[in-house]
Amino acid sequence: MTGAFRIARVFNIPVRVHWSFFVLVLGYVLYAGYDTDWDKIAMLWSGIFVLVLFFLVVLHEFGHALTARRYGVNTRDIILLPIGGVARLDHLPEKPAHEFWVAIAGPLVNVALAILFSLYLFRFTPDQRWEIMNGVVFAKGNFFLSDYSNFDRFIFFMAWLNVILATFNLIPAFPMDGGRILRALLSIGLGRLNATMIAARIGQLLALGMIAGGIWQSNPMYALIGLFILFTAENEYRSVRMESMVGKLKVDQLMRGNFSRVYLDDSIQQVLNIYTEGLEKNFLVFDQWQNLMGVLPEFKLLDARKKKDLQAPVSKYMLPEIYPLVSAENLQQAFGILQVSDVGAMPVYNPWNRLVGVLDEHHFSQDLKKRMKGRKWFGKD
Ligand SMILES: [Zn+2]
Repeated sequence: MTGAFRIARVFNIPVRVHWSFFVLVLGYVLYAGYDTDWDKIAMLWSGIFVLVLFFLVVLHEFGHALTARRYGVNTRDIILLPIGGVARLDHLPEKPAHEFWVAIAGPLVNVALAILFSLYLFRFTPDQRWEIMNGVVFAKGNFFLSDYSNFDRFIFFMAWLNVILATFNLIPAFPMDGGRILRALLSIGLGRLNATMIAARIGQLLALGMIAGGIWQSNPMYALIGLFILFTAENEYRSVRMESMVGKLKVDQLMRGNFSRVYLDDSIQQVLNIYTEGLEKNFLVFDQWQNLMGVLPEFKLLDARKKKDLQAPVSKYMLPEIYPLVSAENLQQAFGILQVSDVGAMPVYNPWNRLVGVLDEHHFSQDLKKRMKGRKWFGKD
């Protein structure tokens, strides 16, 4: 993801923070300052609060990532956004039972932490515990006047924060873990595509309820979360539909048999001429003996154009990565490669090892989009 910085690498998984997250922290601290007439201690505590909150979110994401690893699924990275964390798995676990455990592992981390922090309550008398509960959970009673230390209060709020995180994530709607848990359970009987559709629709119903409730109570936060769920659920369903469609299509159904050959010594300008007049956006690059040497993807070409490096040879901007495809195979593998690499184009060979075409990312996604048109609310593809 662009705009995300790597801050650490734990269990060999990069942890990244999106820059907008820092804006959020700064905004939060400044707001606390504004609210308390620039009380430095209050500002410091609000800063610590956000950082600890996001540390808990990271622990939660590692719950997902490390469980996924147990089932042989790699995690590309963990990203912190202002709206929460995401562990980006390479793919969904194959078996519904595995998906279930991967999804529930995150909230379980918070449940475990909540229990752990709650043990601290045993230092207090039953009456005090009651007072603390009332104070932290319902902001009632004279908890805030009583002389608990800052450390005590910190521990109480940590316990409560983990309860909130676990509960919030168990809401049965994408992108929350509850949506994935629901999908995994439905998948056992219905298959992934239909399970995703039903889980997405249930989440969207909840989201509509949230939006209505938010408007009713003039609480824009609820309405915004509702809108967010509405769109994310649709995206999740679309991407699972796309994956299932990709699994049924063969490479030669989406490849281009007619393509321009670009050579190492050609100038960028020559390629740009083809680029601007036609449908080809990503190119295969050959040497003078017609050996395939690499690819010139669209973003590299545009990079050269931006630098006005038009007379440079293609070889300067070429990527040497070649992922050969077989025409009769289904598109699953190609789809996966396009998502994790930036080659943009892949050569297609027939069973006799002859180059018969190119799979251009641009053409590929255009074609898939066309096939995806016609919104499907219910039923199978
Ligand atoms: Zn989660």
